[in-house]
Amino acid sequence: MLYDTHMHTRFSTDSRMTIEEAAARGRELGLGITITEHLDLDFPAPEAFVFDVDEYFRAYGDRRSDRLLLGVEIGMRGDLVRENAAVVAGHPFDFVIGSIHVIDRIDIYQEDFYLRRTKAEVYGQYFGQMFECLGGYDFIDSLGHIDYIARYARFEDPEVHYAEFAAALDAVLGRLAEREKALEINTRRLGDADTVAALLPIYHRFRQLGGRLVTVGSDAHRPAEIGKHFALATDMAQACGLRPVYYRDRKPEYVKL
Ligand SMILES: [Zn+2]
Ligand SMILES: [Zn+2]
Repeated sequence: MLYDTHMHTRFSTDSRMTIEEAAARGRELGLGITITEHLDLDFPAPEAFVFDVDEYFRAYGDRRSDRLLLGVEIGMRGDLVRENAAVVAGHPFDFVIGSIHVIDRIDIYQEDFYLRRTKAEVYGQYFGQMFECLGGYDFIDSLGHIDYIARYARFEDPEVHYAEFAAALDAVLGRLAEREKALEINTRRLGDADTVAALLPIYHRFRQLGGRLVTVGSDAHRPAEIGKHFALATDMAQACGLRPVYYRDRKPEYVKL
């Protein structure tokens, strides 16, 4: 069974989806689901994107099944490696996504992050932080939405083109491959054919550098977003010779397509 391995329910600051709604939608689509609540310690906005992880397991622990798994999406920052490692080590997660959402204490969703700066500068910093974090965050399973910055960047062409950032991307993808981590195919932006065309060379390059595994996740905050563009994502994986997996008990399980 294919799993949607990235979604947010009510423990995530910006989601109101209930676990019942997510589970029902997963069943309807014939997909397993992994809940990955958003934990960004010391987020620039007070009280945002943190949640009580013990309460999460108390509330959802009994819902765990062979088609519903419990994970977390961690915001990676160089100054919080130990704190995040402790959270992961202290709880029985099935799956841990490592993501970059905050750079220099600025939420990269914010317009200020892009003001008076070039794309080369901003994206260089983004991939630089990603590379550095992958050094310390050896306790993640998959790198979340490598193209996240393109969702919000205020440039004429915000797309992540492999050729434009080849050296920085090679460093990130090479380190990920070397550590046998998965690279997420985040389906949020796959509705646009140009985006798919831009992302494909990145996944090809990951394979060339020795990467083998991908996780597929919608980043859903609403039931209707679960499983979106999954056929496209599995086609992308196959085209690149990458194996879709989901993680149970922190171990990769192959998906039969
Ligand atoms: Zn994220
Ligand atoms: Zn997310």
